Amino acid sequence: MTILAPAGRAQKAPIEIVADLTDAPRKLYHAEVDLPVSAGPLALTTPKWIPGNHRPTGPVDDITGVVFTIDGKPIAWRRDDVDLYEFHVTIPKGVTTLHAHLDCIVTARVSHKMAVLEWEKLLLYPAHTPVRDIPIQPSLKVPSGWGIGTALSPVNTSGSYPIPSAGSTTQFAVTNVEQLEDSPVITGEYFHEFALAPTITPKHYIDVVSDEPSDSNLRPAMLAEVSNLVREADALYGSHHYNVYHFLLTLSDVAGGEGLEHGQSSDNGVGEKGFSDPSHQLPESDLLSHEFTHSWNGKYRRPVGLYEPDFATIQEGALLWVYEGMTQYLGNVLAARSGLKSQAQYRDMLAMSAAGLDNRPGREWRSTEDTAEAASILRGGNPAWSNWKRGQDYYQEGELLWLDADTLIRKMTNNKKSLDDFEKIFLGKGGNTGPLIVTYTFDELVQDLNQVVAYDWATFLHDRVDKINPRADLAGIEQGGYKLVYKDEPNDSERTMARSGMRRGGGVDCWYSIGLRIGADGNIADVRWNGPADKARLAPGEKVLAVNGQVFMPELLRDAIKGAKGTTEPIHLIVQSDTYVSSAEIDYHDGERFPVLERLEGTPATLDEITKPLTTPEKVAEKPQHGDDY
Ligand SMILES: [Zn+2]
Repeated sequence: MTILAPAGRAQKAPIEIVADLTDAPRKLYHAEVDLPVSAGPLALTTPKWIPGNHRPTGPVDDITGVVFTIDGKPIAWRRDDVDLYEFHVTIPKGVTTLHAHLDCIVTARVSHKMAVLEWEKLLLYPAHTPVRDIPIQPSLKVPSGWGIGTALSPVNTSGSYPIPSAGSTTQFAVTNVEQLEDSPVITGEYFHEFALAPTITPKHYIDVVSDEPSDSNLRPAMLAEVSNLVREADALYGSHHYNVYHFLLTLSDVAGGEGLEHGQSSDNGVGEKGFSDPSHQLPESDLLSHEFTHSWNGKYRRPVGLYEPDFATIQEGALLWVYEGMTQYLGNVLAARSGLKSQAQYRDMLAMSAAGLDNRPGREWRSTEDTAEAASILRGGNPAWSNWKRGQDYYQEGELLWLDADTLIRKMTNNKKSLDDFEKIFLGKGGNTGPLIVTYTFDELVQDLNQVVAYDWATFLHDRVDKINPRADLAGIEQGGYKLVYKDEPNDSERTMARSGMRRGGGVDCWYSIGLRIGADGNIADVRWNGPADKARLAPGEKVLAVNGQVFMPELLRDAIKGAKGTTEPIHLIVQSDTYVSSAEIDYHDGERFPVLERLEGTPATLDEITKPLTTPEKVAEKPQHGDDY
């Protein structure tokens, strides 16, 4: 276990950076940076491997207008021939300050009414130096009247929140480059900051910006649930590793979706109406709890290969089934304990996730650990045949794995212990701290699990993670008192999401029947490897033009699947592939199939025990909703 110093120890003058977001509505950010320097060659760099992205997403390609000056006079620079993130300059004798100007062309997390600043967009600092040892003093300019949300401490407003929007420059306390990169800012015209769970220390806030004036004024019921989340996390983890915590939330159809963890905050982005009512909230219900959990699992405790003292060195994906997978499990459990979703919705979503994994033929050739190691090449990849390739399965596989471990601990200890006890040990090492990174190895995981209950945890984990397992780990669901079955109607949560068009673009779900993901326009997004549609030679990217002699409509395909049940007549399709048209016959007769969890009668409902609140929840009645049109 390595405990890393929280702050720069080197007694150096800080870099001074002024981030200018006044051009944010035009999707341009600017920075003025003053760097303390001494004579000789100097290599400066922008970040490459961004923590939490699990791949090299530093925006060097969007950084432009880079001009270095000394006393107002430009000096020459040259990019490094190998590391394209580095800029070389030579500092003349007697010079102690180098000024740099740079702009960043911003493509996401910005709209006409709001902006998110992830500082890597504007950072420039000495290369080949541990980033936690580089002190930096950040300041920020935003458009007049825009509010500011961040976990950074403002120095000119006695450190209080919300930060008054003076329309001038807000100066923040000196920090280091590692912490600054981890401390984003949201700003917007329609800004609200709400204090959460007042009895819990340290303080928690949710800062919200939106494109429409009313959206950022969150519903009282949702605020109560987020306060419940703060109390539930406090009860579950028994420690914290921040001095203040800010949920930063954008509500915009323009600025895009996001979920990025930080030690003292999280950057969360959903659609304009993402939290406007319980049905819109359902697909986003674990977003805040997932990113919040990362403050403990991922930011504070980090797999040793996923931490590097600079942002230039590759981060290794091994153990992401803990970093992301355990967070996936805990985020969903906390969402249910907080009321962000109901216990029934928790089970519905678990059924959908487990079915997806259990019908993923790629698991016949690729282990879960390999999906973690290959995270940086799987993220954002081509979705075609993704079930044969596998995606970032370490999230959902991890969820099933840690549910298996939790239910096993409960079973072996007669419900005296649970994974909650493990979290207090593993995530609470060192007690309460400010933002820190403490790395761990596989062996430490095993030791900590053994502190809760003695078992061959190394074999348990290796079997599930490193081995080829053609079927998903459904043991946790069964130890939880349920089993995964398929019915001819979707569960309530899937129906809610389908009705609101928030899932699969209004297409038809026939993944577990004929093995197609298909849009409302007939475009085939993916084909299940070895499924009936694959056997009929269909492929992702093709378009279904007709079903049983009629022009394609989603309902026609559903009717055809139902109609073929118990018959010997195949489903007839006409399919367009680029400029060719052909016919295909799907020989499938088992009707529609949708995953649900069904109670295993006569066994304890441990799953529902797990998702019960540990604290007394705050409840606010929702206003009745009109109609059923969402
Ligand atoms: Zn995550």
